[in-house]
Amino acid sequence: MDISAGWDLVVIGSGPAGEAAAMQATKKGLRVAIVEDQKSLGGNCTHWGTIPSKALRHLVRQVIRTQRNPLLRGILNPREVRWQDLITRTREVIDSQVQVRTDFYIRNRVTVFGGRGELLSNNEVKVQDREGRLHLLKTRNVVIATGSRPYHPDDVNFDHPRIYDSDTILTMDHTPRHIIIYGAGVIGSEYACIFTGLGIRVDLVNSRQHLLDFLDTEISDALSYHLREQGCTIRQDEEYKRVVADDHGVTLELQSGKKLRADAVLWCNGRSGNTQDMGLETVGLKANSRGQLQVNERYQTEVDGIYAVGDVVGWPSLASASYDQGRFCAAAIAGDEVRQVTDVPTGIYTIPGISSVGRTEQELTEAKVPYEVGQAFFRNLARAQITGERVGMLKILFHRETLAVLGIHCFGYQAMEIVHVGQAIMRQPGELNTLEYFIDTTFNYPTMAEAYRVAAINGINRIRR
Ligand SMILES: Cc1cc2nc3c(=O)[nH]c(=O)nc-3n(C[C@H](O)[C@H](O)[C@H](O)COP(=O)(O)OP(=O)(O)OC[C@H]3O[C@@H](n4cnc5c(N)ncnc54)[C@H](O)[C@@H]3O)c2cc1C
Repeated sequence: MDISAGWDLVVIGSGPAGEAAAMQATKKGLRVAIVEDQKSLGGNCTHWGTIPSKALRHLVRQVIRTQRNPLLRGILNPREVRWQDLITRTREVIDSQVQVRTDFYIRNRVTVFGGRGELLSNNEVKVQDREGRLHLLKTRNVVIATGSRPYHPDDVNFDHPRIYDSDTILTMDHTPRHIIIYGAGVIGSEYACIFTGLGIRVDLVNSRQHLLDFLDTEISDALSYHLREQGCTIRQDEEYKRVVADDHGVTLELQSGKKLRADAVLWCNGRSGNTQDMGLETVGLKANSRGQLQVNERYQTEVDGIYAVGDVVGWPSLASASYDQGRFCAAAIAGDEVRQVTDVPTGIYTIPGISSVGRTEQELTEAKVPYEVGQAFFRNLARAQITGERVGMLKILFHRETLAVLGIHCFGYQAMEIVHVGQAIMRQPGELNTLEYFIDTTFNYPTMAEAYRVAAINGINRIRR
């Protein structure tokens, strides 16, 4: 075994959390190595999750826009778009991302060990590389950033070529005419929009009564309406009983007695932390039933010198937050002040997209906060009329006495970008975080950001009538 000693930090996993921890630690002057078991760097985020799904969504939006554009109508029939072609283009984006991320490690002199990492103690990590060679890394600290994978219930046969999860859907070599998506969380809803955008019939099976019920109800209702309008059938409050696949299709039998038949099933019902077979028990760590590790506010596990960040610690399980967790964890290791990940915005890349930050109307009502609402409908904005992106709205929730902004909820074109204007104002101290900022500020015209001014005036008029 090849012994490599003197590391200050060994990071296991090169997704957003591991990468950010490694980069921040090396900037702090620590000697850092990273271990990654996939052939290239970037983590599941780059290879199977965020990046491919967002690239696919972008392509599908272009298909939809082309179809809607009166000058281009007839040029492209969405039903003639092949899934494999979309995946080929998506791979180009993945490759570019891998290139960029690999350069970070070279530039910042972080040593990469390709292979699977296993903990032998709180300061020893064994790596078996792809050639079968063993390396023993001796280190002062370890960060577990091994991410997550799609949850597979035992009674569903994921080896069948018509049963996919959010990883294997990227290897699908045909374009189904009808697909069942089981699980209507963020990933299921995003893929439902991608497939309906291609004119593929979708049955979206939700185990809850409402779609994405953590969202503001008005926004969640708007998503359900638009999904249905695009041809998606949403089955609420359903649980599967059995999945039967054959050479011609898949039948999903539901507990309610319904039977759905389609060309393929995409299973999007939860994720498990990647903590299996990596020596947790050897060092005295135990993951919960979802494979996740518990950490304190310094991202430390119960074992001295072992930290964990990203999906492997559970909430919020987002690439956006994982980058911050990685950076903050490195600060903890370097002995700096540690910050917490709070006020994480929601960014849901459905078509149209959804984004929000702060509290919902339900939460404010429950907490008996005297709030008021200001709304701007995109159909009335000059920019939206020019681009033809008229579906959507921005809703600002604010305190009716202090005018403090309490929540921003946006639905429609550029929602995931627009929300950050409101987020920046909400983060301001005291009197600076009020609705008045949007009324007193000159916005570029015509822009989507102008929605803030329209919504703020709408809101102020409600209380000053
Ligand atoms: C379809 C989909 C869409 C998503 N869309 C978004 C989005 O739009 N926005 C957003 O913010 N988030 C999104 N997410 C979530 C986001 O991808 C994850 O939160 C993020 O990838 C978590 O990062 P991570 O660093 O914890 O781990 P990961 O990205 O999961 O990477 C972990 C890495 O560790 C490696 N690894 C595991 N075990 C070992 C081991 N023992 N030794 C060596 N290496 C190991 C894995 O192979 C992997 O490469 C999406 C997820 C999915 C599945």
